[in-house]
Amino acid sequence: MRVSVLGLGYVGCVSAACLAGRGHQVVGVDVNQAKVDLVNAGKAPVVEERIGELVAEVVGTGALRATADVREAVLDSEVTLVCVGTPSEPNGSLCTTYLERVTEQIGAALAERGGRQTVVYRSTMLPGTCLNLLVPILEKYVGGTAGVDFGVAVNPEFLREGTSVRDFFDPPKTVIGELDPASGDAVAALYDGLPGEVFRVPVPTAEAIKYADNAFHGLKIGFANELGAVCQALGVDSHQVMDVFLADRKLNISPAYLRPGFAFGGSCLPKDLRSLVHAARRADVSVPILAHVLPSNSDHLQRAVDLVERTGKRRAGLLGLSFKPGTDDLRESPLVELAERLYGRGYDLRIYDANVSLSRLLGANREYIETRLPHLAQLLADSVAEVLEHAEVCLVGTSDPAVLSALPHGDGPVLIDLVRLPDAEVRRAEQGYMGLAW
Ligand code: NAD
Repeated sequence: MRVSVLGLGYVGCVSAACLAGRGHQVVGVDVNQAKVDLVNAGKAPVVEERIGELVAEVVGTGALRATADVREAVLDSEVTLVCVGTPSEPNGSLCTTYLERVTEQIGAALAERGGRQTVVYRSTMLPGTCLNLLVPILEKYVGGTAGVDFGVAVNPEFLREGTSVRDFFDPPKTVIGELDPASGDAVAALYDGLPGEVFRVPVPTAEAIKYADNAFHGLKIGFANELGAVCQALGVDSHQVMDVFLADRKLNISPAYLRPGFAFGGSCLPKDLRSLVHAARRADVSVPILAHVLPSNSDHLQRAVDLVERTGKRRAGLLGLSFKPGTDDLRESPLVELAERLYGRGYDLRIYDANVSLSRLLGANREYIETRLPHLAQLLADSVAEVLEHAEVCLVGTSDPAVLSALPHGDGPVLIDLVRLPDAEVRRAEQGYMGLAW
């Protein structure tokens, strides 16, 4: 199929490259010319396992190209996938500005194009956004009826950054919210042959399923971390507790997100919890459990700061900065928040993250670092060794094998383990080792 993918961020870039890899003819679109240029040069604008090779390959065969022109891309497509961002507004509500703007652009192109095309929203949005906000925009521009003159579907994305290419080809599930069967068929055809169950549901149900996923992930992490903190205070190994808890097959609980460790973050879980709670508040629905997941997460982050304070050292190191290993994504990273809390308390801090350094070199996240985190940019080191040499106390916030193999035993800085290192059992007996996830 001829497909346009609007937005070449983490979701759009992976969707575009993977669809091109499956034989579709794909044009990716972004307002950010730097991302367009990177893709056309055969380079990925995000750091992810396998994405660099895949973009090089599909751009090389001509299956993927990029442009900054929405109109040109939509005119030439049968299906348009919308993958623009939906961040939080300052009050926690969902920002739909990018969705509205791109929908106007699509509408204008569809009005010119003629023939039936399907607009598929992959961006995360609250139930009702598609039918109440976006479909009226499309109908106004096109001068026709959604589900008749053009198709509309919601197809939420369940990729996990760090393993998103793998997740695309082996999805946990495919959810298609369809306005009419033909719209659903167009989406199903994109993924035909991929494993995993396909659920065809009403549009608002598809929107809500994504929130069920992300709210539950946040809840599980918060639960595991609170339990871990209590266990640690009572001298119990929380991982052993969870091992046995999860071994109860009758409970049939997935271990994912249930390992006590560091706080969660990233561009999805916090903002999706925030907008869900905001929407509940507006609808006058009391949601005390959901409303306390983010405060619980913030308290957990503070435990790491408290551990550093307990050491009494002032020269600190931080290994890892992106929100999890395998990605360069710094948005709402708990390690960024940790660095900021330490920096704010006057610690002499150095930070190293291999993916962030690589991405900065490529130019992918350079603007984000320079505009949003200039105070941290000056603290970035070039190697693990540089951080270890500087630090009297070093926080290990990544399980990147290259970092783990460089960590000293015994001598060197006090290590504060945020990720429960694979050799945590051995290290617990050593001097100068503290863990957040015991
Ligand atoms: P992102 O910020 O990395 O990418 C969005 C891109 O859209 C940016 O490059 C931006 O320049 C571009 N854009 C904005 N307006 C545009 C326009 N009018 N035309 C063309 N391009 C435009 O965001 P992301 O992380 O890829 O997330 C996108 C959506 O997918 C969000 O709704 C998010 O909640 C959801 N989602 C993200 C993930 C994830 O792991 N990142 C997973 C599942 C769902």
